[in-house]
Amino acid sequence: MVDSVCILGGGLVGSLLSIFLKKHNIQSVIYEKRPDIRLQNLVAGRSINLALSTRGWIALEKVGLKTEVEKIAIPMFGRMIHTFDGQQKMQPYSLHDGKKAIFSVSRAELNKLLLNEAEKLGVALHFEYKATKVEIDSNTIGFRNAENEYIKINPKLCFSADGAFSLVRSELIKNSGFDYEQKYLEHSYQEFHIPADANGNWQLHKNALHIWPRESFMLIALPNLDGSFTCTLFLQNRGEVSFANLNTIQKAKYFFETYFADALALMPNFETQFEQNPISSLVTIKTFPWHKNNYCLLGDAAHAIVPFYGQGMNCGFEDCSILMELIEKKPENWTEIFSEFELSRKPNTDAIAQMALDNFLEMRDLVTDEHFLKLKKMESNIITNYPQKWQSQYEMVTFSNLAYSEALEKSKENKLKLENWLQNFGENFVPEL
Ligand SMILES: Cc1cc2nc3c(=O)[nH]c(=O)nc-3n(C[C@H](O)[C@H](O)[C@H](O)COP(=O)(O)OP(=O)(O)OC[C@H]3O[C@@H](n4cnc5c(N)ncnc54)[C@H](O)[C@@H]3O)c2cc1C
Repeated sequence: MVDSVCILGGGLVGSLLSIFLKKHNIQSVIYEKRPDIRLQNLVAGRSINLALSTRGWIALEKVGLKTEVEKIAIPMFGRMIHTFDGQQKMQPYSLHDGKKAIFSVSRAELNKLLLNEAEKLGVALHFEYKATKVEIDSNTIGFRNAENEYIKINPKLCFSADGAFSLVRSELIKNSGFDYEQKYLEHSYQEFHIPADANGNWQLHKNALHIWPRESFMLIALPNLDGSFTCTLFLQNRGEVSFANLNTIQKAKYFFETYFADALALMPNFETQFEQNPISSLVTIKTFPWHKNNYCLLGDAAHAIVPFYGQGMNCGFEDCSILMELIEKKPENWTEIFSEFELSRKPNTDAIAQMALDNFLEMRDLVTDEHFLKLKKMESNIITNYPQKWQSQYEMVTFSNLAYSEALEKSKENKLKLENWLQNFGENFVPEL
């Protein structure tokens, strides 16, 4: 069967890409290994909610979905730090007006919305179609469907949005000249649920990303529309304080009582959750090139990153925006489109991979470190005085669409300046810019 344009994976990036393509009169077909998420309550195994920020919003606006997504998004205006002694301190994202926010969205609801839109536009959706064999040189993809039939297609193009453990990527890297690097973090994560109170209200401040930083580990919580919160514990796999050591419910409860007492008090069925909720790993994956012939990777398939900057999906959505700009610029010239796409994106996805790893240290440890807080205070004063001339790394990454690589370079330069000013003039110094 000759299938015009195939998208492997109907997750967040694959479904958004199909909408973008359709808006450019390119008809695609999505093949997704899982059952239709719209007919289910929950897809287990991945984070339940995600932080959506500027790069993601820009892509959604381009396909006309910003208003629809806003209806299912909760603004978070800052980080609410839960200190060890039980206090809560809000660190707003914007220093002057307090209006900047990132948005908590349910992964499942966002995916459903994108699939509904794709279907409405006429994208063909095949669920329970698992790609089991990809032969790039002979241009064949084989699927096993729900009826256990084996179906082969020969797509004109294949966009591989099949996630961090992409089948297409595993074929690509068998070719000479294709680099591949996979690094697991020594921390894994487990999710917990804080339900709404008896009146359906949020039991923590609704409009904040809650963080319990505890140096080598942390707990975070993002609000859900139904009044609940999803908490994620990031903890080392091995060592004294680790998942390996939390090997009984008593130990786990004692650990939460010691470090996250206020959160534990809001989890009525902690024991069941601890026993039943999976512990999942965190991985950074880098590869290059991203294409061969008519097969091209994007989203997590090309660049899976750890979640500490809340950018994986945002970056995947930005991939779609950039790919579309290239399709507009060079219609049908797929070799050039794919080459320019991977060349322009790779330095940026490497940069966000690095910043995401660095931000883990900031979130779990540095937010309570004195030297770091002095640098932050100094930077806040500068931003308040010169909002047009100075931006923090967080602002450049989260509230702009400046290339990630430029954000990284600029913030390295800024950090050197701040360290220098702090050392010479103290934390209250504001330079003339
Ligand atoms: C704990 C955690 C928290 C996160 N928080 C954030 C956040 O706050 N903000 C943010 O921007 N990002 C966040 N991310 C990252 C985000 O989840 C990913 O970057 C995003 O899901 C990538 O989308 P994708 O479509 O590329 O891949 P996926 O979401 O993995 O989708 C891939 C799809 O392909 C399908 N598939 C796979 N193999 C096959 C096959 N062989 N045949 C057919 N279909 C197949 C899968 O079933 C899936 O539906 C987080 C990630 C984690 C783990």
